[in-house]
Amino acid sequence: MTQQHFRPTKAIIDLQAIQQNVQNLKKLLRPNVQIIAVVKANAYGHGDVAVAKAALEAGATILAVATPDEALHIRAHFEEPDILVLGASPVSFVPFAAQKRIILTVFASEWVQQAAPLIAHEADLLRLHIKVDSGMGRIGVRSEQELLELSNIIQTANNMKLDGIFTHFATADEEDTSYFDRQAHFFEQCLSALPEKPRLVHASNTATSLVKGAHFQYDAVRYGISMYGLSPSSYVEGILPFQLQPAFTLESELVHVKQLQAGDSIGYGATYAAPSDLWIGTIPIGYADGVIRKLGGQEVIIDGQRMPIVGRICMDQCMVALPKAYAIGEKVTLIGRQGKDVISIDEWAVKLETINYEVPCIITARVPRVYV
Ligand code: PLP
Repeated sequence: MTQQHFRPTKAIIDLQAIQQNVQNLKKLLRPNVQIIAVVKANAYGHGDVAVAKAALEAGATILAVATPDEALHIRAHFEEPDILVLGASPVSFVPFAAQKRIILTVFASEWVQQAAPLIAHEADLLRLHIKVDSGMGRIGVRSEQELLELSNIIQTANNMKLDGIFTHFATADEEDTSYFDRQAHFFEQCLSALPEKPRLVHASNTATSLVKGAHFQYDAVRYGISMYGLSPSSYVEGILPFQLQPAFTLESELVHVKQLQAGDSIGYGATYAAPSDLWIGTIPIGYADGVIRKLGGQEVIIDGQRMPIVGRICMDQCMVALPKAYAIGEKVTLIGRQGKDVISIDEWAVKLETINYEVPCIITARVPRVYV
């Protein structure tokens, strides 16, 4: 049953846009290269179950998450597809992973040694992907020797299978390729050192795929940000082979409209004083929804026109300066298109001095995700 929401604030997720993006991305791939849809962090704030379903329908075959809990959540909704946990999992998760056919990322021999006895039934086979740290410096083996030791231990355990090997590039979205080239070279060396290649070799995220074309596709690519219709950087934006379609809209409505006299103040700290008589609207969204105080002054679109948020943003509400009295219930677009104008996630990212990836992630669970 869909939950009913009474507050008019919502994030509207365009699943067709996500599908279109996946279909366009698929056209860039060699035949037989699989799409791993990266739906970690609640699908970058878009809603993991709905996005996973849309991505699978559009051609993705594998789902990737960051944590064991995310994997279990996805598995509860999808019986069939492979699910890969990209981050580190505690050994205590191993019995669950084996039973639920969740693929884990490994990078330490001790972990494998501790994990092996925890797989209860002979029938349960734990599939593992080795992570190679070719230069991100997060998790992963950092030498051929470490890699070979780890792969030997996995191969000798009769209840584990080396199913994949992967790496992640740190600078694929930049024009300068020198660091990327070093990472790619090390990963290639690691692949050559393996006596036998596992089923799935993968290295490309969005930027690698869009910048490098057919190179580095191996057996699968991991698409995140592009699936959501956003570009990983302005450099990649400049060389996009097709138009990405953003899927995330953030909307609310005016719940109160009043006229202020010149000099009247708004919000905590009374930091904003009306310069003249003006109209103020109240929007039921605040920092507990992810509209953090740093977004003070950010514009919203009402009646097709941009208007600024004034005063300090409160926990649950914020105020906007209006050119005239609008009716209660007037639509407010915080992110997305209204009329001829659009406020992009990238615009918010500039205001917040961050990257577009972070923006939908910070819109909290209190804001319902509504799918169109
Ligand atoms: N692979 C890994 C290991 C990641 O951590 C991420 C995202 O952070 C991705 C793939 C997807 O990257 P992107 O969203 O840039 O496509």
